[in-house]
Amino acid sequence: MAFDHIIGQEIQRQRLMDALMQGRLAHAYLLYGPSGTGVEALAIELAKAVNCAQGPGEPCQKCPSCRKIQTLQHPDLHVFLPSSSTKAAKGENKKSEVEGRSDARLERRIALIESLAKDPYAPFIFNKNDYLSVDDIRGLRQDAYVKPFEGRRKVVIIAAADRMNVAASNALLKTLEEPPGELMLILTTHRMHGLLPTIISRCQPVHLGRLPEPVIQDALITRYQTDPDTASAMTRQSDGSLNQALQAMSEEGTANRKEAFSLLECIHGDHPLQIFEMVDHLTAMHRKTPVVEPLLDALLSYYRDLFILTASSKETMVIHIDRLDAMKDIIRKITMEQIEVGIQDVEEIKQSIIKNVHLQLALTVLALRLRGRRAQAA
Ligand SMILES: [Zn+2]
Repeated sequence: MAFDHIIGQEIQRQRLMDALMQGRLAHAYLLYGPSGTGVEALAIELAKAVNCAQGPGEPCQKCPSCRKIQTLQHPDLHVFLPSSSTKAAKGENKKSEVEGRSDARLERRIALIESLAKDPYAPFIFNKNDYLSVDDIRGLRQDAYVKPFEGRRKVVIIAAADRMNVAASNALLKTLEEPPGELMLILTTHRMHGLLPTIISRCQPVHLGRLPEPVIQDALITRYQTDPDTASAMTRQSDGSLNQALQAMSEEGTANRKEAFSLLECIHGDHPLQIFEMVDHLTAMHRKTPVVEPLLDALLSYYRDLFILTASSKETMVIHIDRLDAMKDIIRKITMEQIEVGIQDVEEIKQSIIKNVHLQLALTVLALRLRGRRAQAA
């Protein structure tokens, strides 16, 4: 099978390999699909395949070229990732503030690139302010016309290309309109709608779909040395995305599920005052690292399980099988209708939190609303 470092996506892999072997590779690709389906990994493998010392084709993974591309340190490979700067301290003069920001930006970018080199399936979480600037793209344009140093082709990977601002997009358009012969551009995105249509139309699109559960489970066992039981439980939480499974398996993911379940138990428990303590605790946590969105996602997935248990008692379909008994306790106290409305409530609050409403207040309203529905029905 072509590109054997890639998990799943057999048809797309083969199609790209056929194009390479027949000398019909496009000068610009847009690899798109949900996060955790392998768009970044495939971009890196494609860069290896065009430059492998054994000749164009399946990357040998052993030659200096393949190894340098794997670590993202090949002189003919350029990887651009969005990043942002933390604000420099107030009171400094303008120049050092600008320098401080660009240093912070570079530092963050290096960390993201290292994470990508270590594992192209690793989830990277961008901040709201992470973006690709026009300077990034201008640098790319200058470099694109220089002949490759070591490889056959220069490869530029622009990851999360939807995070280009308008000026950067327009600068990239110029390169896409008159591409230098030896340059291959690979854009990746999980949010196709964030790209200008003029950019999309100048790239060959390759869509990577969600991965089947057995594929994810197998990858967790063989690549990440996960024991089969954990792999099976985490696969249920993956929604077809390997990095969602990895995220669920991480310390952070485990902690989020625990907090979300405590909140759920509080809402439907016998001590309503605990809700206020819980909300204070979550708000304080969120100030350190943004946790509320993943937490609400976890809460939604618990409501989904409650729905399944109430509607069908099909335990095989439950995601959080480790909390089955506690969930059975909860469904004794609530009705199907409450669960349905609860799901809507959580979805609604998620949207308003994205719009920056007062977090503590929003969470309190949510918890009381969910609880109030319980009291009405009881
Ligand atoms: Zn090689």
